[in-house]
Amino acid sequence: MEVKLAGYNIDSSIIEKARNSESMKGLPFTPETVAVAYARISRDSSPVTELRQKAIDDVEAARKSARNIVFEMNHQSVAEHAVFNFDILDISRLGVESLQWHRLGSYTEKSQRYQELVGDYVLPKEFEGEARPLFEKTMNEQNELYVKAFEILFEYFKEKYPHMLEKKWDRRMVEGYAKEDARYAVGLATKAQLGFTSNARNLEYLIRCMRANPLHEVKTLGDEFYRLAGNVAPSLILLTDPVEYEKEFGRPLNNDYFIKTRPNVRKLTANILENFSDLPVNYNFPSRGEVKLIDWTREADKATVQAILYSHSQASAETCMAIADKLIREGSAKDLIGGFLKYSNPWEAATREFEIPDFTFEVVLSSACYGQMKRHRMSTQLIQRYDPELGFTFPPSVIETGLKKEFEANYRQSSEAYYELMKYDQVAAQYVLTNGHRRRMLVKANARELYHISRLREDAHAQWDIRDVSGDMLALARDKSPLSLMLAWGKDRFLEKKKELLGSSY
Ligand SMILES: Cc1cc2nc3c(=O)[nH]c(=O)nc-3n(C[C@H](O)[C@H](O)[C@H](O)COP(=O)(O)OP(=O)(O)OC[C@H]3O[C@@H](n4cnc5c(N)ncnc54)[C@H](O)[C@@H]3O)c2cc1C
Repeated sequence: MEVKLAGYNIDSSIIEKARNSESMKGLPFTPETVAVAYARISRDSSPVTELRQKAIDDVEAARKSARNIVFEMNHQSVAEHAVFNFDILDISRLGVESLQWHRLGSYTEKSQRYQELVGDYVLPKEFEGEARPLFEKTMNEQNELYVKAFEILFEYFKEKYPHMLEKKWDRRMVEGYAKEDARYAVGLATKAQLGFTSNARNLEYLIRCMRANPLHEVKTLGDEFYRLAGNVAPSLILLTDPVEYEKEFGRPLNNDYFIKTRPNVRKLTANILENFSDLPVNYNFPSRGEVKLIDWTREADKATVQAILYSHSQASAETCMAIADKLIREGSAKDLIGGFLKYSNPWEAATREFEIPDFTFEVVLSSACYGQMKRHRMSTQLIQRYDPELGFTFPPSVIETGLKKEFEANYRQSSEAYYELMKYDQVAAQYVLTNGHRRRMLVKANARELYHISRLREDAHAQWDIRDVSGDMLALARDKSPLSLMLAWGKDRFLEKKKELLGSSY
């Protein structure tokens, strides 16, 4: 076996220096050469090291190959071998949501828990005209409450956790509790910054979606991705440019699917809902707090047992199913699942067998909570727009310090501004809604992903809002699948639960 390190991402300032140095003049500084060399592997028997050199020696031929392979032959997965990193500054929280909707990217974002907000927000293009005074007034009032609340909440948490004031790290945590609760006052126009990493295939798709997004800010972000990555890897970021596309393929670029589908379906949905407005709805789903379990794999534990038997034997699926059925009926399935989980620890992922049982929840959650839940990319998530009719989320500390009235007034004023701004732009109006406003969300996750969500989010270190929501999700799912999810608890309770259920904390 021979393994070579063919490439890796390097800071762009270093690449720029290299590009400008005499000895590097003329070399192709593009990830396309690696992607093309890998694309050529499928038909060319030359060693891949030679294919890479060939692509470097004739980058124009490599680009032609890439266009042909990726876009004509539809072998788009080769574009995944080219990777980009982007610094994104001064983007709104609402803009971040549109970006992070795309689950195949990697994101690390400024934390509103660890960083104090300084009242900076994005002025959306949609409200640059006569709506601007209302927009700015709302944002400024939200920020005033943030500053006031932060001071009061910091004092409150200092009193609550006096033992955490000595060490710098602990004190930062206490300050963090105040920041993360005060931020419920501020709106979705608040500025964020993040690092984003994507491969070219995902980026191409994301640019097309972003350019069709109703928000001007998101369209601009799509254009920036196109400008920056298209410049470096023109053969891989091509489907996004109507002029280049037509030149290359001799037919117009059709973006109707991206631009027209959702507005069209929104209208169809509105008509259907109106026609069925008096349809009785009589479901009684298991629920806890703001979470409903609306669907789940019936006999979920049996499905997990069957999967474990299957992947550890040569028996057919039917045989494994029959045995799983018998083990569950006889009450002896715990030995197998317990045996499987015996060596697990709080850090390792549950295995693929646990992907067989699925659970679908409807959750009404705050924007602050959604901001965290959306990062669980392995689940399927569908969201509705924020809706002031769904009520508001108040941090417990806000209630205990007597700030509830002020937060409620702030939420209500922001809602009024929202309704007023909807007259200008229905989607952009959401910029003025706060972290305490709510939306409905469907989350479908298998038991493996639920293990992951629970380890991170049911844990004592997690923020209280997502800890509550994930705790309710897990309690509902564990009720339907007590064996498969027996060790799905926050990291802090894992060993205790392992000891209690399996008699071992190894
Ligand atoms: C206490 C705490 C503090 C946090 N603070 C911040 C913060 O300050 N800023 C911030 O941006 N985020 C923060 N996060 C969010 C965190 O970075 C994760 O985005 C979030 O917890 C989702 O976890 P995940 O990516 O492991 O989950 P999922 O996306 O659901 O993925 C599940 C698992 O699949 C695998 N996986 C998924 N995608 C990939 C991939 N592209 N490459 C390799 N493996 C993959 C990994 O094994 C992963 O654990 C915080 C989370 C916690 C719990």
